[in-house]
Amino acid sequence: MSEKKKVVLLGATGSIGSNTLEVLRELSATLELYGIAGNTRERELGAIAREFSVPRAVLADETAWSRAKKDGAFPPDTEASCGEDALIDLVTDKRADIILVASSGTSALRPTLAAIEAGKPIALANKELLVLAGKFITVAAKRKKVPLLPVDSEHNALFQCLEGRRSTEVTRLVLTASGGAFLDRPLSELDRVTPADALAHPNWSMGPKITVDSATMANKGLEMIEAHWLFSMPSDRIEVVLHRQSVIHSLVELVDGSILAQLSPPSMTFAIHHALTYPRRTPTTRPTLNFAQSHRLDLEPVPLDRFPCLRLARQALEAAGVAPAIFNTANQTAVEAFLEGRLDFLEIPRLIEKTLDRFDNFEPRGLQDVLNLEQLVRQETTERIDRKTWKKTS
Ligand code: NAD
Ligand code: MG
Repeated sequence: MSEKKKVVLLGATGSIGSNTLEVLRELSATLELYGIAGNTRERELGAIAREFSVPRAVLADETAWSRAKKDGAFPPDTEASCGEDALIDLVTDKRADIILVASSGTSALRPTLAAIEAGKPIALANKELLVLAGKFITVAAKRKKVPLLPVDSEHNALFQCLEGRRSTEVTRLVLTASGGAFLDRPLSELDRVTPADALAHPNWSMGPKITVDSATMANKGLEMIEAHWLFSMPSDRIEVVLHRQSVIHSLVELVDGSILAQLSPPSMTFAIHHALTYPRRTPTTRPTLNFAQSHRLDLEPVPLDRFPCLRLARQALEAAGVAPAIFNTANQTAVEAFLEGRLDFLEIPRLIEKTLDRFDNFEPRGLQDVLNLEQLVRQETTERIDRKTWKKTS
């Protein structure tokens, strides 16, 4: 019997993390969970280590790490450690075959680049990394001939539809968008919506940040930028269409007028299964689309007036340079503040727009330029939120 593929999972305790564990339980004959990483939930991470007999685990948060040591959160056979260096050591481990980057935020940037340098295939769920540093990640991956396998469902769909095609055969990429929690809510009510309202997504169960991003459609904006980097497509050939059912995950139009689409039930397990087993196709027993039932598959234009974040992301993509990184960091800071009750929902796009205006655009020479800028933008937007001055100066 051939060896099992050894998977390292960053963000094991999150939403993509738990979908990945479901896939790993099903595909345990061919895939093995070799390493896991999480931020603060040491008990959950310890329970995953126990269930899957995981050889290596890393916690990012030092307080959680102290608790883990005191309480014996990890089983004795798991080599556990803490911090960024430990994470880099894990993702560059000789025995690791594929790294699934499903941690939130942008803290996985250095580890992801280190894994690429070590020649590890990357299954990428985290879109923020590509928005922040798409040039550096894609250039490094190309140089090291490392595949970047998209786990974001739209990009996984595009990847499948584009397989075997020449770029000259493709006219446009069409990303589908569910519309999030407030698609049908009267515009006049949006200034009163709460984090709990925004977290009630009609189709997908996801982590809090991306669920808010779905409600503002900043998520689809980030995904346009993600598609630009993954598939080398200019902004004017990346479109967004509203598709409430989340069954068509995206579409590709070819020069002869044919449009290809990828369909599956609205569960991230399909994209994860595809990325972890690529280039093979392996069977699943999870429920697939049932055609004994009727299905509606609506495709509608996006009501752009409802979703200023989508326009701002398009602007940032077209401006290039560090504009996408500014968009991403301003959005991230604004969403955190909204989730903590410090910022109103409608203030999220206003804060992003002000931040994009406030910072000059430039072409970053290296990763450090982007990281320095990220810190500056975060500081600036946090201060603006704290003082609420951006409201008065508008
Ligand atoms: P989540 O909030 O549910 O989980 C985040 C995970 O990241 C947790 O396990 C947390 O412990 C871990 N984490 C946070 N900071 C860390 C750090 N410094 N080091 C190591 N681990 C850390 O988030 P999610 O919804 O699973 O999303 C994760 C990523 O995947 C995001 O970038 C998101 O945009 C992307 N994504 C998610 C979905 C989805 O369906 N949830 C779909 C497409 C893309
Ligand atoms: Mg998506």
